[in-house]
Amino acid sequence: MRALVKRHRDVGLVMEDVPIPTIGINDVLIRVDRTGICGTDVHIYQWDDWAQKTIPVPMVVGHEFVGEIVEIGSNVVEFSVGDLVSGEGHVVCGHCRNCLAGRRHLCAKTSGVGVNRPGAFAEYISLPMTNVWEHDRQIDRDVASIFDPLGNAVHTALSFPLVGEDVLITGAGPIGCMATAVAQYAGARYVVVTDVNPWRLKLAAKMGATRVIDVRTESLADVMQELGMKEGFDVGLEMSGNPSAFRSMLETMCHGGKIAMLGIPSVEMAIDWNLVIFNMLHLKGIYGREMYETWYKMTVMVQGGLDVSPVITHRYDCEDFQKGFDTMLSGQSGKVILNW
Ligand code: NAD
Ligand code: ZN
Repeated sequence: MRALVKRHRDVGLVMEDVPIPTIGINDVLIRVDRTGICGTDVHIYQWDDWAQKTIPVPMVVGHEFVGEIVEIGSNVVEFSVGDLVSGEGHVVCGHCRNCLAGRRHLCAKTSGVGVNRPGAFAEYISLPMTNVWEHDRQIDRDVASIFDPLGNAVHTALSFPLVGEDVLITGAGPIGCMATAVAQYAGARYVVVTDVNPWRLKLAAKMGATRVIDVRTESLADVMQELGMKEGFDVGLEMSGNPSAFRSMLETMCHGGKIAMLGIPSVEMAIDWNLVIFNMLHLKGIYGREMYETWYKMTVMVQGGLDVSPVITHRYDCEDFQKGFDTMLSGQSGKVILNW
């Protein structure tokens, strides 16, 4: 089968012929239909410090996908050949304290699809049945292929109650843009989104932001005044990984404000802890999605009318993967889909 492989400890990926994966008694084999390119795939493509430390080479990469089950292991009863499915990108151990308590998203021994084990940028992928989510066939196929990052947005955005709240989202990347739509859908009053990339701010506006701010030219304080906000943001969703974005969030939260942190800083990040202490802020780190509460929530929200499709800005055949990665690297894109 064709697969996109990290073959060399260097920049780039290669399309290669590799064996179709085999399945164990608890696994399913899925024919991949569409995949989304994630920021993680771009890190692996660029072979940055994180990728060099993390990725064993060779590795089939990718983890955002939708496809159809073509084979099931003898223990699998919940799924059948022909089911339309995506995979949860975190394979958990099943035995640690958190897994046994049903808090699988907190597993300490998580292994990543397309990171630590063969991924989805391929014609076929094998996954444990416990990592499979069956889709409602009414859901748009491209949207189904990005349930994994939509799950990051949903898990982060729904970390705290949003009805009537004023929400600050720092970072209008694909996940920040999807979180914008989710926060609006979930009943927030204002959803203010910051970035330093005008192209992406336009996308955030399209996805329902009350107000977008290019922090290079406009201040958050001015916009808060313009909106008549007196006490600061109730909820902050940090989706940039940028230290100055996080600091400006800390400065503009109300007393008792709640912050969910998804963005991954590439360097250590110093902050004024007095803001956290004296403003009595809550900080929550987010990794992945809740299994499978997040998948349930995003399914019913999409069924109920949550529209995240504008975040998908480019579609390519998998043979044109280079164009896909170049588009991601240009900064002028939302989600990029590859067809397999
Ligand atoms: P992305 O890199 O496409 O988006 C980040 C955005 O932040 C970019 O648009 C960038 O221009 C913007 N930004 C940079 N400096 C800024 C500043 N000073 N103020 C405001 N915005 C600024 O990433 P994405 O795919 O949308 O993901 C969002 C973040 O979440 C990334 O850091 C990613 O690594 C991380 N992530 C975390 C998890 C997790 O499980 N914790 C999962 C997926 C992604
Ligand atoms: Zn575990």
